[in-house]
Amino acid sequence: MLYSIHRPERTALIGVNVLDARGGDPVRDAVLVIEDGRIAEILARTHYTTRPGTEELQLQGMWVTPGLIDAHVHLAGGRAGIDDQELGVIAENRTVRAIRAVCEAQTLLKHGFTTVRDVSWNGLYLKRVFFEQKLPGPKVIACGPGLTRTGGHGDLFQFTPDYVRENGVFGLVADGEQEIVKAVRYLLREGADAIKIFLSGGDNWPHDRNGDIQYSARELAAAVEEAHRQTGTIVMCHAESREAIAMAVEAGVDTIEHGEDLDADLAKTMADAGTILVPTLQLIANWHRDFMPLDGDRRPPLRPDAFLYRDLYQGRDASFADDYSGSAVRSFQLALESGVKIALGSDTVYEPLTPFGEYSALEFRALVEAGMTVRQAITAATVVSSEAVGMSHVIGTVEVGKQADLLVVRADPTTSADVLADASNIHLIFCDGRLTVKDGKFEW
Ligand SMILES: [Zn+2]
Repeated sequence: MLYSIHRPERTALIGVNVLDARGGDPVRDAVLVIEDGRIAEILARTHYTTRPGTEELQLQGMWVTPGLIDAHVHLAGGRAGIDDQELGVIAENRTVRAIRAVCEAQTLLKHGFTTVRDVSWNGLYLKRVFFEQKLPGPKVIACGPGLTRTGGHGDLFQFTPDYVRENGVFGLVADGEQEIVKAVRYLLREGADAIKIFLSGGDNWPHDRNGDIQYSARELAAAVEEAHRQTGTIVMCHAESREAIAMAVEAGVDTIEHGEDLDADLAKTMADAGTILVPTLQLIANWHRDFMPLDGDRRPPLRPDAFLYRDLYQGRDASFADDYSGSAVRSFQLALESGVKIALGSDTVYEPLTPFGEYSALEFRALVEAGMTVRQAITAATVVSSEAVGMSHVIGTVEVGKQADLLVVRADPTTSADVLADASNIHLIFCDGRLTVKDGKFEW
């Protein structure tokens, strides 16, 4: 066995309550046995007998859940405040940002997120480093940068195209079917597990409107077809307007990111198609309130925008933010009522605006505040998120045969969203059966 130095071949968690995360009743006072990185047995304590060579951990009354999965993060390593958002995230040396990204991923792990799906160049390489187990870190399901058209949501028009190509981390510019196919193949060559495409705008600057479609149906279809040609490749699609969501579902993408403009018909279509929604609710419902300078709090732009008379926020006040949040929450509730599969994704992107780990916990809370039961939110953050990242055959539930990515929690996590949202309640975190975090510190 390659990485067995610190890992006993067999570990028994004794006296635990096991939550499979599918919504069923927990198995109480059980023993969960981990062998060679996988869940080997879950049995009543009365049926357990000690075997030599087993490390036995006495964990009476504690709870075992699957490791949490954040299906939408950017391990990009940038740092920016509200008034230098575009500049801050790509101004520093790429190595500095790559090293920070290690820390970002590790912080997510310490908050109980044993798997993350990343959109950035860094994730493609971080996933290998963590897999080698030289450094502790979560499983990184890597998209690489998202496909964006020239001037699209993933481009950074404030800088020259050459500078963005050299220093950008979120977006890979590709225009037309041919460039898109090439870009998908290039990312897959670099080890992408999934492909991200920015279909609609995202309100980041005046000509990046949520309501605008940034790729044609043919360009989108080319991306989806090319990605799906490689078995197991998930396509995640940034789609904020109704039109963009409908196009994305029609094109056969696997997950819709944000998707805050659903109506009943479209929610039903999504549910029927099995398309997963990653609502990034904390961000979407609070973005305009928390991050955008509205009237009275306006900061000067970095340089005059090329589109001088198209200011998205001109004349807006706080009521705009409230209306926007309210409709985003209603759209999420419609999805929930319609049976759309919903996964947890925080869209944590850079500090200090979105602190790594904490922001994922806020997303978990937001799902409950907006209408999920705590059990539903746990299912979203584990079972459905494992599907969203294309890993449901390996992780996402506590079942015999699955990889032992597990949390041992001090309190019953189904009683309140506060339990899992507060990392200090997590006693132990196992990654592939290896005890990796104990009481918030790495056990390496
Ligand atoms: Zn994002």
